[in-house]
Amino acid sequence: MTSPIGTVAIVGGGTAGWLAACVLAARRPELSISLVESPDIPTIGVGEGTWPTMRETLATIGIAESEFLRVCDASFKQGSRFDGWVTGAADDSYLHPFTLPPTGEIGPKLAAWQAGAASLGFAEAMTPQAVACSRNLAPRQRAMPDYAGALNYGYHLDAGKLAALLTRHATERLGVTRIAATVVSVGAAVNGDIANLLLDDGRTLAADLFLDCSGHAGLLIAGHCKAEWVDRSDVSFNDRALAVQIPVAPDSPIASQTIGTAHQAGWLWDIALPTRRGIGCVYSSNFLSDEAALQILTDHVAGAVPGAGNVDLSPRKLSFKTGHRARFWHGNCVAIGLSAGFIEPLEASAIVMIELSLRALTDNFPASRAAMDIHARRFNALFRYRWDRIVEFLKLHYVLSRRQEPYWLAQRDPATIPAQLAENLLLWRDQPPSAWDFPQIDEVFAAASQQYVLYGMGYGVPLAGSTSAVDPAAIAQLAEVRERSRVLASALPANRTYFDALAA
Ligand SMILES: Cc1cc2nc3c(=O)[nH]c(=O)nc-3n(C[C@H](O)[C@H](O)[C@H](O)COP(=O)(O)OP(=O)(O)OC[C@H]3O[C@@H](n4cnc5c(N)ncnc54)[C@H](O)[C@@H]3O)c2cc1C
Repeated sequence: MTSPIGTVAIVGGGTAGWLAACVLAARRPELSISLVESPDIPTIGVGEGTWPTMRETLATIGIAESEFLRVCDASFKQGSRFDGWVTGAADDSYLHPFTLPPTGEIGPKLAAWQAGAASLGFAEAMTPQAVACSRNLAPRQRAMPDYAGALNYGYHLDAGKLAALLTRHATERLGVTRIAATVVSVGAAVNGDIANLLLDDGRTLAADLFLDCSGHAGLLIAGHCKAEWVDRSDVSFNDRALAVQIPVAPDSPIASQTIGTAHQAGWLWDIALPTRRGIGCVYSSNFLSDEAALQILTDHVAGAVPGAGNVDLSPRKLSFKTGHRARFWHGNCVAIGLSAGFIEPLEASAIVMIELSLRALTDNFPASRAAMDIHARRFNALFRYRWDRIVEFLKLHYVLSRRQEPYWLAQRDPATIPAQLAENLLLWRDQPPSAWDFPQIDEVFAAASQQYVLYGMGYGVPLAGSTSAVDPAAIAQLAEVRERSRVLASALPANRTYFDALAA
C-alpha cells in the first residue's frame, strides 16, 4: 500500500491514450509507462477541433508548434460559428469566439452594446476576433514565439496524423514503451484492483496504475471496475454522425472557426484544414433516417465546397452513446477519453476533457496506493461536476432556438431541460451569466462562453439602468475593441498565406 507508484499501463492508442502517455511521461519522468494498443481495433479517427488548452498541452510535452502544424495538416481554430440555429433564416448566424470580452463586469458593457453598437452582434462588439474570423485571418504572426497569439486560439487537425505524431514523440523522445497487442482479460488483485492485463500474444502486463483509454468499450472501467453508465440521451438527443473529408484547391481560403450549421434534426460541422475540409452531419436517429441524413450532407457539401457537387461522398458512419460513467477513477484504474464519456461533438468538448483529466491526474499524482482512494474521490466529484455543466451548456444551444421542426420543439420540451439550466435561464433574465454561476477554477464553459451563446442567440439582455446612464468606461472599452479590430485586420496574415509560408 505504501510503496511508490512506479509503473503505469495505458490501454488504447487513440488521441486519449497517446496524449496520456506524452503528458504523464513529460510531467512525471520518474514513471515507467507502457501503452498497449490493439492492431485489430481501430481508433475512432475523428476529433478534429481542439480548444486553446491544446497549446499548453503541446508545449508541456515538448512539441514545437511549427512541427505540429506541418505534420498534422493543422490550421487555427478561433471559435465556432453557428448558422441557422435561431430561426434557420439565411442571415441567422452568430460566433462563439475563444477570446474573452474586455475585462471587468459584463453588465456595463452589455448596456454600452445595447445603447451604441446593437447593430453589431454581441461577439463583434466584444472582441476583435470576430473580424479576424470573418476575414479568414490567422490569430498570430509567424514571427511570434511558439504558441503565442494576438488572439486566443486552438486548432483544427487531422486526428490520425496527431495520433501518429504523439506515438513517435512518446516512444522516441519520452521513453514510453508501445505494445501492439489486444488485451483479452484482466487479472484482479485481492483488494479488487487491477493486477495485470493478459494480452493476446500470451504476455502479461502488470502495473501500479492503469489508464483506460480504450474508447467507447471502456474495457477496464466498465469491464473490470463495473462503473455504472449515466445515460444522458434524455437531454442530448444526437446519436449518429456521417463524416466525409473533401480535398480543397491549394489556394482556397481556410476558415478561422468551426462552422456548425443547424438542420431539421441536428447540425453539420465544417472544419477547414490546409488540404481538406472535414464535414459531418450529426443527427438523432429518433428524428432522422440515415438516408435523409446522407441527403442533407450531400446537399450541404454541394453548396459549401466549390467543385464538390459531383464527388462520391461515401461517408463514414459513426454511432455514439451519449453519457458518461458515474465514476471515472475506481481503485487503481482511471478512465480518460471516450471510455469516460461522450456528449456529442457540439463545441468540441471531448479532447479538452482528456487534457483536463490529465492535468488533474498529474497535478495530484498519487504517491502510493494508500493515497489513491482520496484522489479518486476528489477526481470523481470534479469530473461529475464537469460532465453536468457540459450537458447543460450544449443543451443551451438547443433550448434558445426558435426553430419549429419536431426535433427542435422536442429539444425545448421542459422535461428534457436539466434543472440547473432551467434555473440559470430564469436568473439570466435579471442578471448576465457570471463567475457566481460558474465558481470552479478551470470551468469547462465559463461565464463568457454562456454570454456568447446567450446573446448571440438573442436572449433578452438584462439592463439595470436606462441608456442615458451608460458607463463611459464601458463605451471606451467597446471603442477600443473596434480600434483593435481595425489594427489586427491589417496586421494579421490570412490563414492561407500563413500556411503557405510555413510549408515553404
Ligand atoms: C462524430 C464525432 C466527432 C467528434 N469531434 C470531436 C471534436 O471536434 N473535438 C473533440 O475534442 N472531440 C471530438 N470527438 C471525440 C474524439 O473523437 C475523442 O474524444 C478522441 O478521439 C479520443 O478517443 P479515444 O482515444 O478515447 O478512443 P479511440 O480513438 O476509440 O481509441 C481507442 C483505442 O483503444 C484501443 N483498444 C480498444 N480495445 C482494446 C483492447 N481490448 N486491447 C488493446 N487496445 C484496445 C483501440 O485499438 C484504440 O487504439 C468526436 C467524436 C465523434 C463521435
